[in-house]
Amino acid sequence: MRDTFLSFSLPLIGAEEIDEVVAALKSGWLTSGPRTRQFEQDFCQAFGTPAALSLNSCTAGLHIALKVLNIGPGDEVITTPMTFAASVNVIEHVGATPVLVDVEPDTLNLQPDAVEQAITPKTKAVIAVHYAGHPVELHALRSICDQYGLHLIEDAAHAIGAAFDGQPIGAGSNLTAFSFYATKNLTTGEGGMLTGSAELLERARIFSLHGMNREAWSRYSAGGKWAYDIVEPGFKYNMTDLQAALGLQQLRRFDRMQARRRDIVQAYNSAFRNHAPFLTPTTRDHVTNAWHLYVLRLRSSELTINRNQFIEEMTARNIGTSVHFIPIHMHSYYRDKYNYHPDDFPVAHGAFQNMLSLPLSPSMSDQDVADVIDAVLDIRSKFARRRAAA
Ligand SMILES: *Cc1c(COP(=O)(O)O)cnc(C)c1O
Repeated sequence: MRDTFLSFSLPLIGAEEIDEVVAALKSGWLTSGPRTRQFEQDFCQAFGTPAALSLNSCTAGLHIALKVLNIGPGDEVITTPMTFAASVNVIEHVGATPVLVDVEPDTLNLQPDAVEQAITPKTKAVIAVHYAGHPVELHALRSICDQYGLHLIEDAAHAIGAAFDGQPIGAGSNLTAFSFYATKNLTTGEGGMLTGSAELLERARIFSLHGMNREAWSRYSAGGKWAYDIVEPGFKYNMTDLQAALGLQQLRRFDRMQARRRDIVQAYNSAFRNHAPFLTPTTRDHVTNAWHLYVLRLRSSELTINRNQFIEEMTARNIGTSVHFIPIHMHSYYRDKYNYHPDDFPVAHGAFQNMLSLPLSPSMSDQDVADVIDAVLDIRSKFARRRAAA
């Protein structure tokens, strides 16, 4: 057994990132400036996005997306229970009503048919989450949204570098929000990027910085550079150049980091896939998985311990794990406000009860990966349910 604790997700920060942050500090420009603009351009280039707006979080991007699309009180937004609270909290922030629908049993992504069945005259948008880095069925969701005149917003917090039918996530004209939180595939400590058409992002940029519009003012005055107008009560959601300094260098490292993630996933898959207690993650043929998470699902009938006990056994072997996610409808705010019961979304609830996320980070050594595999297989050999010989 390893003698130091392996964190569930450690960022990979090298000398390049450190040097770039120092250079930003020495440049005298700390907040949004040349490095955030460069990061936006590089991000567009890397992922074929039409335009990009750097922000202080993915949550900010989702919030602004709803504001830009004029979604508010009286409107319904369909989304998934299998996500982090941020995807749904923002719907509450704008005064709209989240409508949850269940997920597909294999990918744990929104089920397009369930989305279509949940549409009412009040529905204005769908927030789709690319769970664990596996893209949702984008063609099906896009055509449902087009047919009913709904906006599609993508929560791509897990999906940097993912693709659907060869097209990178974020390359579409609809609003898509990425996260650079410390555990995400590319990190700026805290940060986010909103992508979409230049027209939508122009409005989003105004919302991201107090609702300030310099062009609106200059239309009416011969004013100098000091002049601005407030056209909306906007937010303070901009990214700093210190964050962008990290992002610029993380982007250069990104393909190598993703390759390392894929190697680790392959090692896990081949170690676990032939053992009855384990269900390994699937990847559909027409997608590129960004592998943000490696979610191992337990077949409870094949084990004498439950998921919580399995996690305790992992911790006892010095391996950090996590659970993604406690479904939205099980959190007290949503449960009480909307009178949800755990089995209202049976697929999400059932998956939650049997899932754990294993360490997955490009910072892991081969020994770290071997330690995780040893721990999982050791727990299996101790707690697999033995069947009477036939
Ligand atoms: C991490 C995460 C977010 C929030 O990202 P921040 O950058 O921390 O705001 C949103 N949605 C999902 C699915 C996430 O995992």
